[in-house]
Amino acid sequence: MDRMKDSGSFGWGSIPHGCTEWFSGFPGYSGLSGYSGFSRLSGYSGAPGNTYFLVLLKLFPMKREERYTIILDHFRKEMPNVTTELDFDSEFHLLVAVMLSAQCTDKRVNMVTPELFRQYPTPQSLADATEDDVFALVKSVSYPNAKSRHLVEMARQLVERFDSVVPQTLDELVTLSGVGRKTANVMLSVAFGQGAMPVDTHVYRVSHRIGLVNDSDNTPLKVEQRLSRYIPKEELGLAHHWLLLHGRYVCTARKAHCYRCPIAHVCKSNEKR
Ligand code: SF4
Repeated sequence: MDRMKDSGSFGWGSIPHGCTEWFSGFPGYSGLSGYSGFSRLSGYSGAPGNTYFLVLLKLFPMKREERYTIILDHFRKEMPNVTTELDFDSEFHLLVAVMLSAQCTDKRVNMVTPELFRQYPTPQSLADATEDDVFALVKSVSYPNAKSRHLVEMARQLVERFDSVVPQTLDELVTLSGVGRKTANVMLSVAFGQGAMPVDTHVYRVSHRIGLVNDSDNTPLKVEQRLSRYIPKEELGLAHHWLLLHGRYVCTARKAHCYRCPIAHVCKSNEKR
């Protein structure tokens, strides 16, 4: 229980009854005012040991709305301006980069795109290339054969069907070769500023661990729909990056680093321990 080890130096005994502000001075324990469990704490006599906090969560499981409120408030405050870590200089190049990033790190993609973008600045230039030409430039990313093929096909489709302009609707984007719902939603969100929630492996995993979605939300589409129901439309793009970065650097696939997680106090995983 990493989180308990980390927080074992303070106890409930020092908390004034019903005082939520106490948490604001403790790293990562800010913004609990949305948790109705505190309103049920009046009369609590306090006792040493953070175990009581976990007991509290078990006795008064947090409502989903409360969890969303606290977590969104946290990220609004801590990460007000986040965007993709992919490098790009146009909507077309963002689409290329996002397609390359499937099952691959942004860092790796950013290593190959400068030369790719230099040689293929427009859809027409990429449409004129061969798969072998593109493969030579992207061979260090995952699935280079399939991605080379999709990139050239996508560019030809842009030229032939969209006058070399990246379309701005999900229905049109997913008709392009190699463009799925997640990639299309990234384009809507990052390139066109539309409220969209791309669900990648990080967003999917973190949403389940935190308790933002139901266990039965077992597909990316169901997770997207659940998150979109609770998060304001204008914040969906930001929230995508919040959850993605949290999954990339804190709540990782290999290990959930709960001991340094700033939202551990509202994470559903802690209710189960
Ligand atoms: S969000 Fe992840 S890292 Fe944070 S407490 Fe929950 S399981 Fe642990």
